[in-house]
Amino acid sequence: MSTAAPMPESATKYARVMLKISGEALMGDRAYGLNPQTVARIAQEVKSVHDLGVEICMVIGGGNIFRGLAGSAQGMERTTADYMGMLATVMNALAMQSALEQIGIYTRVISAIPMDQVCEPYIRRRAVRHLEKKRVVIFAAGTGNPYFTTDTAATLRANEMGCAAVFKGTKVDGVYDRDPKKFPDAKRYDRVSYDEALEKHLGVMDATAIALARDNHLPIIVFSLDEPGGFRGILAGQGTYTTVDAKG
Ligand code: UDP
Repeated sequence: MSTAAPMPESATKYARVMLKISGEALMGDRAYGLNPQTVARIAQEVKSVHDLGVEICMVIGGGNIFRGLAGSAQGMERTTADYMGMLATVMNALAMQSALEQIGIYTRVISAIPMDQVCEPYIRRRAVRHLEKKRVVIFAAGTGNPYFTTDTAATLRANEMGCAAVFKGTKVDGVYDRDPKKFPDAKRYDRVSYDEALEKHLGVMDATAIALARDNHLPIIVFSLDEPGGFRGILAGQGTYTTVDAKG
């Protein structure tokens, strides 16, 4: 749970943001699926930013349940496997909606693949209206198309919603030149350009997502979601993180 001190609304320059987390971030110490305590902890992180008056979009991956590439490696037809991956993201979105509503945050799940009994279909103007009403909007089912990722979905929806930036919550506090878990001398970037991230395969996001951000001048901010109060701190410009933008 966040223990950050109260912060006035003016402490953040962000009016509307996209938070992208991987499905694996919801696993906690488990090897598969969802850890309810972890989901609840991330919901608190989201609440602490929502309390600042920031409008929040979310995209959650599905890798804790199913990845299309893993399915196709086992012989499944790729597009079918990708649809299974997209369905996995809907499950994660519903789990996050439940955790957010338990702590009093109104939340809408909007799916790129219509499933009317479960959640709303994606209608851009309706999603914007939810945000204006201070509801957290979770975009599920990725882009709705196989061969894409939820990083690309996050960048796409962030552009459509007019978000100031995509915040990518990970297990490390930014972008490194090498894997910091394997190489203790790995160097963290404070700021890196889209082009350098692409050229050096820095593992920020996949190339499609980075290119979409670059072409629309959308900054990507990579930070650690494991740090309690981290998301709120980063929005106020505190803590360690990496900004990926045109200047680098
Ligand atoms: N996926 C897809 N199209 C999209 C988004 C996701 O086909 O627009 C599928 C793809 O199979 C992917 C899976 O959904 O492997 C889960 O998404 P992702 O791998 O991005 O999840 P994360 O790694 O963030 O948990």
